[in-house]
Amino acid sequence: MSRLFKRTKILATIGPSVFAPEKIEELIMAGVNGCRLNFSHGSYEERDEQIKAIRAAATKKGRSVAILQDLQGPKIRLGEIKDNHFDVKAGDELILDSSLEEHDGTNVLPVQYNLAERMKVGEPLYMFDGKIKTEVAEIISKTAIKVKVLNDGVLMSKKGLNLPDTDFGGDVITEKDMADIEFGASRDFDYVAMSFVQSAEDIEKLRQIMLSHGSTAQIIAKIETKKAIESDEKMEAIVKATDGIMVARGDMAVEAGNEVVPIVQRKLIALCRQYGKIVIVATQMMGSMVDNPEPSRAEVSDVANAVIQGADAVMLSDETANGKYPVEAVKQMKKVILYTQNHSKIAPIENETIGEYKNYDAVAHAAARLAEKIEADVIVCQTSSGATAASIAAQRPNVPIISVTSNARVAGQLALTYANSAFVRPFSDTYGLDLAQELAESDYLKKREGRDYILAVIVSGQPNTVGGTDTIQIRRV
Ligand code: PGA
Ligand code: MN
Repeated sequence: MSRLFKRTKILATIGPSVFAPEKIEELIMAGVNGCRLNFSHGSYEERDEQIKAIRAAATKKGRSVAILQDLQGPKIRLGEIKDNHFDVKAGDELILDSSLEEHDGTNVLPVQYNLAERMKVGEPLYMFDGKIKTEVAEIISKTAIKVKVLNDGVLMSKKGLNLPDTDFGGDVITEKDMADIEFGASRDFDYVAMSFVQSAEDIEKLRQIMLSHGSTAQIIAKIETKKAIESDEKMEAIVKATDGIMVARGDMAVEAGNEVVPIVQRKLIALCRQYGKIVIVATQMMGSMVDNPEPSRAEVSDVANAVIQGADAVMLSDETANGKYPVEAVKQMKKVILYTQNHSKIAPIENETIGEYKNYDAVAHAAARLAEKIEADVIVCQTSSGATAASIAAQRPNVPIISVTSNARVAGQLALTYANSAFVRPFSDTYGLDLAQELAESDYLKKREGRDYILAVIVSGQPNTVGGTDTIQIRRV
């Protein structure tokens, strides 16, 4: 393969650093495969403009790009603090009151969520990304709790809280999320990401709400609570219930401790590969590039390891949303992905992939191995729901996968899937072969040295039957 296709995808968070449509276009041209719109900030008008800019840039590049709506979830924040500064010392007592309108400098602080309804005495409560640790001492009223501070530090307005041991009782979808889900259902979103998932039931609940609004998006479960990772069985149940997961390392580190993150990351990637679900590794992958034009050695190593472990996608957060070098961060990430994929195999997983033992899984498995064995240049996959393409990708072949579908939503979703480049074409029995020919003629697929043809493995099936994939062909185009 003389042309270098990046098989691990890049998901970039859209924020103030890249709000201009030209910047979004630059990101996509530099190698971004999906954009995350963070619903913790911003207005619906801004969202509509961003969606338009992303779709326009994708069309210009001739490639599908995924758009992900990231719901805020129960991300609890302090209110405004007087003079934006409040010193605390170990042993201090604070009162957090959701009914307080304005902070007057005392130890009674405003908070944007009624903690008294959810928290119990003795539960930990962390503030400011875990910088200040406290413990609930007393439930004072219907809206206020008293916490005991365990270490010295300073608090500022709007800093986030983490409640690692608090059970939200299946209530991780807030009123704001409900409004955002309804908004999202009528917009062009390929994925909806659910924050602070605690159980598989949370995902079922979101799915029902999305269906009731007619959403065609798939669900990404953000794994970032202590409850979600409390056992291997819990993680497996979540992976089975969702369409994909995000290893949300930022809040996970605060809630469960830094040291658990690498192991949980490996477990989640392996589980997702086993079940053929999308897996995205997120947060601080190139964190130092918020301020610097080059990543640190540790960051480069982090990205390379995610590639070798077999993640579908790696994510940029502050690096693209608020950083000084958003486009450079994408370029650096792409460089690491390409070098790594071309010099290392993806680590095998212990357990064989488990689809639902449908025909398409067996065919997909065979096609992936066949393509590697005969040194094919490309696997071309005719896919109506995307299931066959995802199943081939789950085998993590070192051959690019070109998917063709008549459904633009499916193409958008496959943009984040390992090794997939999805194209939308009107359905025909031979649209896989036709697309291969088109891409060979347009030079999108380049012939390798010593070959005057492109060797393609084409996977197809009964027209418009989901799961009807039953045919593999080897073709020279
Ligand atoms: P966030 O999620 O950026 O929405 O907090 C990712 C994480 O917690 O790592
Ligand atoms: Mn988070």
